[in-house]
Amino acid sequence: MTEALPPRGRFAPSPTGPLHAGSLAAALASYFLVKSRHGQWLVRVEDLDPPREIPGMAERQIQQLADFGLFSDLPVVYQSQRHALYEQALTRLLAEDKAFYCSCTRTQLADSNGIHRHCIAPLDKTHAAVRLRVPDIECRFHDGLQGAQVQALAGDVGDFVLKRADGLYAYQLAVVLDDALQGITQVVRGADLLDSTARQIFLQQQLGLPTPEYWHIDLVLDEAGQKLAKSQGHDALNDSMRLQELQRALRHLRQDPEVLDSGLSMAENLARALHAFDVNRLLSASAP
Ligand code: GLU
Repeated sequence: MTEALPPRGRFAPSPTGPLHAGSLAAALASYFLVKSRHGQWLVRVEDLDPPREIPGMAERQIQQLADFGLFSDLPVVYQSQRHALYEQALTRLLAEDKAFYCSCTRTQLADSNGIHRHCIAPLDKTHAAVRLRVPDIECRFHDGLQGAQVQALAGDVGDFVLKRADGLYAYQLAVVLDDALQGITQVVRGADLLDSTARQIFLQQQLGLPTPEYWHIDLVLDEAGQKLAKSQGHDALNDSMRLQELQRALRHLRQDPEVLDSGLSMAENLARALHAFDVNRLLSASAP
């Protein structure tokens, strides 16, 4: 009999700006959910898109996590160093005719809201993207917090891009491969990525990879009700108010901020928050 592997969660920021309150809430939710089940928590740097990244930002984000006592249980993985793995998977999908080269431009797809169903431009392999063939199916899954989900893949997203015409690997491809290769069993992240999940599950199925659990936490909004953005540096976590930032994140996750004590270190406070973590309170946050 094989022993069940311990659960594994991850936090996977793109280094496009400093972490903000929403990032901290997502990192903590994934940390609490996996650590309360005696699992491992990993950090992965999703540095796939150099034009959008800021030099040194990955190190700053890792330091921001460390300042809250959050450390990856295994060495941090950088997607920029994993192109060979992504290319291998693409080669396989292309060979199996599950993916195809395409040189349709965004302008050419404007009439269909950017949704690709069949090529409308002649193939120019020097400027081709690679897309996944998406059949007319519904993808259903259960989200730990957002409940039952369904997406009509063809109509909603169409044949989606796995590698861009400029040679950059798409988030959907890299995230699916890395979650599987790193043995991630639970993906906990902001609700802005709920819409990507059906694509990721379909791609897992095409590649014969397992589907992890998904938990999408409600986004942290600013006073104007707007989503926080990493690339707008002004939303960054305040380094001189860490305890308050931790309190705010706990409140967002419906946990008890009273367990924190300003006389203790951040590591001790994190341990207290983990000890007090109550998944039912988190579930009540998304209850209808
Ligand atoms: N890299 C993505 C971000 O920074 C998160 C991806 C994920 O958690 O799947 O928003």
